[in-house]
Amino acid sequence: MGALRDRFWERPLADLNAEEWEALCDGCGRCCLHKVEYEDTGEIEHTNVACRLLDTQTARCTDYRHRKAFVPDCLRLTLKIVDDVSWLPSTCAYRRRADGLPLPRWHHLLTGDREGVVRAGISVVGRVVSEDMAGPLEHHVVDWDEDEHDDEAAA
Ligand code: SF4
Repeated sequence: MGALRDRFWERPLADLNAEEWEALCDGCGRCCLHKVEYEDTGEIEHTNVACRLLDTQTARCTDYRHRKAFVPDCLRLTLKIVDDVSWLPSTCAYRRRADGLPLPRWHHLLTGDREGVVRAGISVVGRVVSEDMAGPLEHHVVDWDEDEHDDEAAA
């Protein structure tokens, strides 16, 4: 792991060290939600059902270090695949930097406030149910993108 360099988030993603890469995440928890993918069309719909390891009140993984042991298909976002993950929210720091966009203005790296993502309405905190309680995913399809159409939220 390297040190965090001054304003590292303005550098290209390929320039970031491992610690800077991790620090870029805003902790919204959106990538920890299940999706429904239709085999015939490849269409993906979002749900409000969270991975069983996600704490739904903090949007934090309860066992980040060992998550792959419990959830083998947990997505590990890397530089190689960031362009291929079409369902990342438009506010996701990785997606935005891959597209050459600045971080959202509420991002904790700009403000020092990790609650900004909650106030901006982007975090899943208190808005999702654990997969252990949810029942069929098809009953939980939601349109998270509604918030993102508000430019204030994305930027
Ligand atoms: S969607 Fe992006 S910013 Fe949000 S938790 Fe996942 S990797 Fe982090």
